[in-house]
Amino acid sequence: MNFRPTKRHRIYEGKAKVLFEGPEPGTLVQYFKDDATAFNNKKKGTIVGKGVLNNRISEYLMMKLTEIGVPTHFMRRLNMREQLIRKVEIIPLEVVIRNIAAGSLAKRLGIEEGTQLPRSIVEFYYKKDELNDPMVTDEHITAFGWASPYEIEEIMQLSLRINDYLSGLFLGIGLRLVDFKLEFGRLWNHEEMRIVLADEISPDNCRLWDVQTNEKMDKDRFRQDLGKVEEAYQEVARRLGILAENPTSTDTQVQYFQSEKTDK
Ligand code: UDP
Repeated sequence: MNFRPTKRHRIYEGKAKVLFEGPEPGTLVQYFKDDATAFNNKKKGTIVGKGVLNNRISEYLMMKLTEIGVPTHFMRRLNMREQLIRKVEIIPLEVVIRNIAAGSLAKRLGIEEGTQLPRSIVEFYYKKDELNDPMVTDEHITAFGWASPYEIEEIMQLSLRINDYLSGLFLGIGLRLVDFKLEFGRLWNHEEMRIVLADEISPDNCRLWDVQTNEKMDKDRFRQDLGKVEEAYQEVARRLGILAENPTSTDTQVQYFQSEKTDK
């Protein structure tokens, strides 16, 4: 089904996505842009085709998580760049799950990048761009009322379950899930509330390293100017079985991106 009314109410525009009012009450349309930012907006650029790939990758992973009983906001993909999602009340936390030392953890604690962590570590950051998303603890979260102790517990359990499942899934396609960021929301059904996975899961918010070569296959290629950024996102999609076979064939890529124009 193609949903494309002429004028839609834009609810929110973020760095990589736009949210529009959905076709039914309680729904939103999530549009994936090609825009890329890093270092809290200090570095800006475009990764051609990223929005299309992240829409597919996130759809695939959210559907897999639904199959194992993880509740998510995802409903269905609408077209190459848009998906229909449930409107949730976003909890203002970025939840980072780490398996291998990298990025800010490696830097802050002086641990060599690539060191296997003794166990998976879950961290919370307060979602506030103006403050650079500072790290917070349960104490801050409950004291300021961002989430209740019950909600924190639920978020922890879901995060670890998602981590176990996704680590296995990525390992199966030769990728190590080094760390990733999740966001959760509250979904209300009359008086009942459930915590559900929201936002997206894609190479924009995961670190994925090739098992054989340790090559980075995620947004670090953009952050660190490693080149072949588009190719890395395509390779992740190809290994997940989402992108047509033979990624090196320009024909395939051209066909893939041309079909974006006809899929609206
Ligand atoms: N991450 C994210 N959005 C953010 C910050 C981090 O998606 O605003 C992801 C990032 O891609 C990585 C993980 O969370 O997979 C851990 O990031 P880290 O704290 O190491 O920060 P970074 O080094 O990316 O600044």
